[in-house]
Amino acid sequence: MKKGKILINVNDIIGKRLGKLEVICYVGHRYTMTKGGPRVRHYYACKCDCDRMAIIQRGPLKNNLYHSCGCARRKAE
Ligand SMILES: [Zn+2]
Repeated sequence: MKKGKILINVNDIIGKRLGKLEVICYVGHRYTMTKGGPRVRHYYACKCDCDRMAIIQRGPLKNNLYHSCGCARRKAE
């Protein structure tokens, strides 16, 4: 482990399927400023059933807020 900079196991959701999305790989992290100070966000490359790739943040991904690259939302239910 390198200096414990990333405290979570970022690979734990690799290969998982979330709706139409399959998590392909961990892309990296970046710091964003929030009201509470800088926060680290982790990003993943996901492949959608429609063959498009999407870069999605770990938090919303794990909370099942994304089920597709955006194509599913356009379809009427
Ligand atoms: Zn799609």
